[in-house]
Amino acid sequence: MQRPELEVVDCDVLVVGGGMAGCGASYETAYWAKQHGLRAVVVEKAAMERSGAVAMGLSAINCYMGMKWGENKPEDFVRYVRNDLMGISREDLVYDIARHVDASVHMFEDWGLPFFKTADGRYVREGRWQVMIHGESYKPIVAEAAKAAIGEDNIYQRVFVCHLLKDKNDPNRVAGAIGFSTRDPKIYVFKARAVVCACGGATNVWRPHAVGEGLGRIWYSVFNTGSVYKLMINAGAEMTSMEHRLVQTRFKDGYGPVGMWFLLFKSVIKNAFGERYDETRDDELKNWLPYGGKIPVPTPLRNHQMLLDIKAGRGPHYMRTDEALQRMYAGQTVEKIRQIESEAWEDFLDMTMSQALLWASHNIDPAETPSEVYLTEPYLMGSHATGCGAWVSGPEDVAPKEYQWGYNRMTTVDGLFAAGDGVGASGHKFSSGSFTEGRLAGKSAVAYVVDQAAAPQVEQDEIESVAARIWRPIEHFEKHRSASTREDLNPHYLLPKMGLLRLQKIMDEYVGGPGAYYMINGPLLTCRASRRTSESSARATSTTCSGAGNCGTAPFPPSATSSMSSSGKRRAGPATTTTPTIPSSTTRTGKCSSTRAAIRRPANGRCRRSPSSRCATERTRAEGTAQCWNPNIARSTGRSSSSAAASPGFRRPSRRRRPATRSPSSSATPISAAGWRNSTSTSRNCALRPAGLRSTSSGSRRTRASAS
Ligand SMILES: Cc1cc2nc3c(=O)[nH]c(=O)nc-3n(C[C@H](O)[C@H](O)[C@H](O)COP(=O)(O)OP(=O)(O)OC[C@H]3O[C@@H](n4cnc5c(N)ncnc54)[C@H](O)[C@@H]3O)c2cc1C
Repeated sequence: MQRPELEVVDCDVLVVGGGMAGCGASYETAYWAKQHGLRAVVVEKAAMERSGAVAMGLSAINCYMGMKWGENKPEDFVRYVRNDLMGISREDLVYDIARHVDASVHMFEDWGLPFFKTADGRYVREGRWQVMIHGESYKPIVAEAAKAAIGEDNIYQRVFVCHLLKDKNDPNRVAGAIGFSTRDPKIYVFKARAVVCACGGATNVWRPHAVGEGLGRIWYSVFNTGSVYKLMINAGAEMTSMEHRLVQTRFKDGYGPVGMWFLLFKSVIKNAFGERYDETRDDELKNWLPYGGKIPVPTPLRNHQMLLDIKAGRGPHYMRTDEALQRMYAGQTVEKIRQIESEAWEDFLDMTMSQALLWASHNIDPAETPSEVYLTEPYLMGSHATGCGAWVSGPEDVAPKEYQWGYNRMTTVDGLFAAGDGVGASGHKFSSGSFTEGRLAGKSAVAYVVDQAAAPQVEQDEIESVAARIWRPIEHFEKHRSASTREDLNPHYLLPKMGLLRLQKIMDEYVGGPGAYYMINGPLLTCRASRRTSESSARATSTTCSGAGNCGTAPFPPSATSSMSSSGKRRAGPATTTTPTIPSSTTRTGKCSSTRAAIRRPANGRCRRSPSSRCATERTRAEGTAQCWNPNIARSTGRSSSSAAASPGFRRPSRRRRPATRSPSSSATPISAAGWRNSTSTSRNCALRPAGLRSTSSGSRRTRASAS
């Protein structure tokens, strides 16, 4: 069998993943790298034009402040995110995205992305933070600009990155990455001084609703397979909020988005008995104060209400598109009705074509027939109404000291940066915020490289050993495939798909999948872990696990939909909903799930949190909610937030090592309304480049007929 060819690529900054965050990182890194005579390279497992979660297009940009029209301030956004994620957010990171995101969105328009516009030239809002776009070509437009900026010679596509390399002299420093071509027998070794990890989130970890013939029909990008977490965990990076699963309310089977129906069309969901669960279960919100008392009701609590309704046997649930459209049509001209109709269809055609196909193939007119909605399978993401990802250094002008160690968005591994779904505790970035975070990470990565005197060294032995590991399954398969008449039933190996199905079953049953009503508790998790070890060690635990696969009658916690497990209020009882949900096998070589020092792995294979320390999620909740943000730092700069995105300069951040242990920032100033009103930003260090220095893409401006 032909051995793979090894190609070595030398660069200074390597961007892994060419999705929204990767495009932002490529675009920004290229700019700053050129100023310093450095080489930036991007590597993508697919083709950047149509890769990642935005591949199919989007009908809205969900993170836009509108500061130039005085519509929102970054502080408003921080408040919103804090509430929606029930406290699980790093406010320094959220603020940093918010103050820069408008500049990114304006660039998208410059590059040719068509927006819905009002008569006075503003973007049409779908909701407070969303603007509507004709976004079928969103990804090609953004990718074109990123590719033009970084240059054809620096783009490696169809290369799947599977390992990060470490410096032979410093085990906590990244030195590059290794990947394999998805087309040729070739392995690529990227030697780099800094790496920006931007490979999207993780789907298919839990058993999806659609199996068998429908496998792959899910809401989030089926191609986002968790590389960003795997790469960083294996490199030793500290993670946070990894138990924070995203569960969405979506149209059944077609996975069409519901945002536009709620926000623009003012549609509602009713159960099979015509009841609105948000009204009949309003009282439930009182159990989750203060967040339950806020408007809008946090995503996890809305899901929680729906789940209670499902469990009470009140389903199925329907989006009453019929009622909403009939209400909107009333008294309107035919022309106006056609416009509303086309907007309703375009919402799906731009973003989730499968939903439009489903309606068309079932001859469903949404103005006549409501459509079923349900709760999706869980996903791991850092960019949506979620919070899993790396624990990163914050922006030096606003992050509390404990939350920064020199370079914005650098993980706890030196030279390893993250963006988009890869960064934890900073949800609601969405496409525009992920792109923006990529820009922030890319700029910092260049600053890091400029500061380093010597390049990291990689042992040739390490390269050879990783290359051999990459190739071994292929060799093994070739050697044994004829041992049986069916390739998928073979005594010598398990095919990846079988491993995937096994993982999904475990996650569904033991780690809060739909099959367990999204609930987890300590006994379920330890039960799972104990199956990997001996029965005697299982008995040694104080759980009710009664043997392989047969978990006893441990009481369930309160139903914990969506991110409830990590963001909700806890109640008394034996169950702990913050126990890491990633089974021990996934974090074998890295930090144990969401904590760094907080969880220790005893010899019996179970993760146990040290009683004296708290996990990163708890830190985020405690500090992020009330103390993470330090308005004094922001105020001291004396600049308005609206000018932040345009602030010039590229100064290297001071090289501060992160402290060996971080203690809760009890001295940090709690947020007060007054603090927000007065808070302004920002220092030059964290600002992106001035608008005047933008290098525009070579692409021509695209136009598209308006929806009407
Ligand atoms: C159906 C759907 C609807 C959405 N709706 C909206 C919306 O209306 N508005 C909005 O603003 N946002 C929306 N989002 C969210 C938005 O798409 C994400 O927030 C954003 O794309 C995250 O950016 P990312 O770069 O982290 O991930 P992605 O954009 O998914 O990029 C990840 C990239 O990494 C690559 N990659 C993965 N693994 C590897 C590897 N091992 N080696 C090399 N490359 C790798 C992938 O191919 C991909 O190109 C939606 C997402 C989905 C799926």
